[in-house]
Amino acid sequence: MTYDLTNKTAIVTGGSRGIGAAIAKRLAADGADVVLTYHSSPDAANDVVVAIADAGGSAEAVQADASDPASVSNYLDVAAGKGGIDILVHNAGIARMAKIDEAGLDLFRKVYKTNVDGVYAGTHAAIPHLNDGASIIVISSINSHTFPMPGAAIYGSSKAAVSGLVKGWARDLGRRNIRVNAIQPGPIDTDMNPSDGDFSEWMRKMTALGRYGKADEVAALAAFLASDESSYITGAGIDIDGGMTL
Ligand code: NAD
Repeated sequence: MTYDLTNKTAIVTGGSRGIGAAIAKRLAADGADVVLTYHSSPDAANDVVVAIADAGGSAEAVQADASDPASVSNYLDVAAGKGGIDILVHNAGIARMAKIDEAGLDLFRKVYKTNVDGVYAGTHAAIPHLNDGASIIVISSINSHTFPMPGAAIYGSSKAAVSGLVKGWARDLGRRNIRVNAIQPGPIDTDMNPSDGDFSEWMRKMTALGRYGKADEVAALAAFLASDESSYITGAGIDIDGGMTL
């Protein structure tokens, strides 16, 4: 199944690896012209760009630190110069696990700067450049509403914040025919949550399907939400978790 994203310009933050790289590749395969951002790994980002080009797609990589609001112009200027933005995927994020008695305000602020400030600043600055029918997608987490293990308060609440922003923005932007949705993954096999990591066996058992998800499976949902096929879906927080939160 493919979706028709031809003549659409897409931004994917944190597109050099993991879920972001899979989304960048999938949106390009479905026809979008992709601007992907990277934080500190130009070689990895370039590998994604080359893979997209080899598959017949179009992409370029730009450096942007999601925790630095000023750097959003690095990617917005490039994408806006292509005739406006149709798809904005906020994927960049960090996970730090620490219980309330272990972590102070410094860690809290670090996680929020990347996971929340970056999403807010990037969306706010994108507004004048969004085309009619644009789709904004935020990669949140099932931790936005489920806390199955200790130490997830900072990360989970940062994801609850962006899942909340999505609902508010869906109201703010709906009459401009701009849709806003959150994808809320469960365990997806990436550097952040490797399927051979410390908690992997527990996570596998917690899912109904008995396995980790793949980044490509999240990318397929992103392509659907980016496409006009999902034209009546806005303000949704969609769990993609193999049934972990049942
Ligand atoms: P990952 O660690 O492989 O990728 C994270 C990406 O974010 C990388 O490209 C990284 O460079 C980028 N990034 C981090 N800090 C950045 C910054 N300051 N500026 C710019 N880019 C930055 O992990 P992933 O699993 O691919 O995570 C992607 C998103 O999915 C994250 O928002 C994460 O919270 C979310 N998520 C992942 C899982 C999972 O199980 N893997 C589950 C739920 C949600």
